[in-house]
Amino acid sequence: MLEPNVDFAVYRKNNPTKDGYFGTYGGAFIPPELAAEFERINIGYQTICQSSKFISELRRIRKEFQGRPTPTYHCERLSNALGTCQIYLKREDLNHTGAHKLNHCMGEGLLAKYLGKKKIIAETGAGQHGVALATAAAFFGLECDIYMGEVDIAKQAPNVARMKLLGARVISVTHGLKTLKEAVDAAFEAYMNEYEDAMYCIGSVVGPHPFPLMVRDFQMIVGIEAREQFLEMTGNLPDAVVACVGGGSNAAGILIPFLDDPVKLYGVEPLGKGSEPGEHSASLTYGSEGVMHGFNSIMLKDEQGEPAPVYSVASGLDYPSVGPEHAYLRDLGRVIYKTASDDEAIDAFFTLSRLEGIIPALESAHAVAYAMKLSKEMGTGSILVNCSGRGDKDLDFVLENYGDRLA
Ligand SMILES: *Cc1c(COP(=O)(O)O)cnc(C)c1O
Repeated sequence: MLEPNVDFAVYRKNNPTKDGYFGTYGGAFIPPELAAEFERINIGYQTICQSSKFISELRRIRKEFQGRPTPTYHCERLSNALGTCQIYLKREDLNHTGAHKLNHCMGEGLLAKYLGKKKIIAETGAGQHGVALATAAAFFGLECDIYMGEVDIAKQAPNVARMKLLGARVISVTHGLKTLKEAVDAAFEAYMNEYEDAMYCIGSVVGPHPFPLMVRDFQMIVGIEAREQFLEMTGNLPDAVVACVGGGSNAAGILIPFLDDPVKLYGVEPLGKGSEPGEHSASLTYGSEGVMHGFNSIMLKDEQGEPAPVYSVASGLDYPSVGPEHAYLRDLGRVIYKTASDDEAIDAFFTLSRLEGIIPALESAHAVAYAMKLSKEMGTGSILVNCSGRGDKDLDFVLENYGDRLA
């Protein structure tokens, strides 16, 4: 599998292939009834989304509605507390709705509108993707159906309220374990019956082709902006770039614009409570090749070969597979995948809040935690970290479980 002489300047032209493959990873494993519709979305992406009209409309939305560009920020107090290596944050927590997810949801919503769809459909686990997509639906005047497990609905009351306030229908999924896996199945089933009027919008660089490509491209604004901002601020490129990896969209967004640069790239997976099955969701670190949710990648499986139960303190990271491009970049050796545990992420959550006045999402705290470790190893130089979202959503949980640290 190793291709030692990849020219990363031309990498994006050749990856994925026209069938959606990054090496052996990716593809589109979908019911035959949906093949033609996914091809329509693919052609729509290849033509409509590359038109100057679409590009300029999306540019205007990003500036006037989302508040882009988001800043890049030099964490001087954090850097000084750790040593001499300098840490910088790309502030996706300041993107509208408080995370990077809106970057691809607005792109997907705009494409749905150009394709003449009346509705966008998705599933959601903790509710973050549901809220971002419901926001896009309200903006574009589209209907929005969000499928969510009954158990998650009970746990995530504020996000359910947000989705409803934004005009989405939240459809409770009551079979099986009543969580994300069942919600994915229910959303897909509904989609098969209404794809003429509706578009399915995936929440990360996962799912069947063209979604890993499309979501990556919509998220690349993060790295394109950060690269320019970093050059302007320091006159140089960073020595390393770090992002957390759930499905891998914020990581793809910030890392891929640096592929052709002499910059070390790191993805950070959640190690949760430990390395035993069920204690973590570090798919690339502990998984093996397999097909799930319509694409081939590296996944965590149980004894039956089904997606394994996964866990992380950050609910946005607990996904048993990973975007196919990350699996390929790992095999190529271009991106290095590391882990951060719950405890390390919680430490980083408190440290960044106290030293910089920035409360990160628990997901983003995994990237900050690894950057803190890396800064000590490197000793000098600079690290750019994607702060993928803000931590307000995590406050109740942190206070309940780690409130003693406030004393
Ligand atoms: C959803 C989410 C993630 C994980 O998703 P990726 O596709 O891996 O980026 C990370 N950070 C935040 C704040 C999220 O909401």
